[in-house]
Amino acid sequence: MELLKQRIIEEGTILSDQVLNLDGLLNHQVDPQLTMEMGKEFAARFRESGITRVVTVESSGIAVGFATAYELGVPLVFARRKKTLLADPDAYCERVPSFTKGIVTDIMLSKRYLSSEDRVLFIDDIIANGDAAKGLIKIIERSGAELIGLGIVIEKSFQAGARTIREQGFRVESLVKIASLTDGTITFLEI
Ligand code: 5GP
Repeated sequence: MELLKQRIIEEGTILSDQVLNLDGLLNHQVDPQLTMEMGKEFAARFRESGITRVVTVESSGIAVGFATAYELGVPLVFARRKKTLLADPDAYCERVPSFTKGIVTDIMLSKRYLSSEDRVLFIDDIIANGDAAKGLIKIIERSGAELIGLGIVIEKSFQAGARTIREQGFRVESLVKIASLTDGTITFLEI
C-alpha cells in the first residue's frame, strides 16, 4: 500500500534496529482517512471469505479493526487487556508477552462475542514476534470459531511472527512489510 509506505517514511522514527515509533500514525494519533483506506484494503482482500466478526486487541488495533469491520459490515470485537487476577468463567483468557513494554499481560475476550459459528478475521497494527497474534489464535480456537486470516498493517519481516504463523497454515495479509531497520533506514520489502 504505497500511501501507507509514504506516511511511514514521513512520520516513523527508528528507535532501535528492532523498533519503529509510529505514534503519529498508529499508536497515539490516528488519521481517519488513512485508517479507512486500510480498512478498505483489508476488506477487499477478505470480502469473499464470509467473515462474520473482526477481532483485534486493545488498543492500537481498534481503529483499523473498526475500519475493516465497517467495510465488511460485521461487528468488531476487541480483546481487553485484563486488570484483574480473578478468573472469569465467561471469558477466554491468554497470557501474552508485550513486545514494546517488556512485560506479560493477560488478554480476555468474553464468550458472548465469539462462538463456533464465527468466521474470524484478526486485525492488528504491527507484528513482531507474533505473541499477541498467537494468544488471539488460541482464544479463537478455544471458542470453536474458524480463523480465516490475519490482516496486519505493518509486518516486520525480520522478526519471526508472521513467518511462523504462515507456517502454521494461516493466511497473513500485510499492507506493508519492513525488511530491516538497521543503519537508521527503513527498508521495505516489495509486495
Ligand atoms: P508481537 O506480539 O508480534 O511481538 O508484537 C505485537 C505488538 O507489539 C503490536 O501490536 C504493537 O503494538 C507492538 N509492537 C511490536 N513491534 C513494534 C514496533 O516496532 N513499534 C511499535 N510502535 N509497536 C510495536
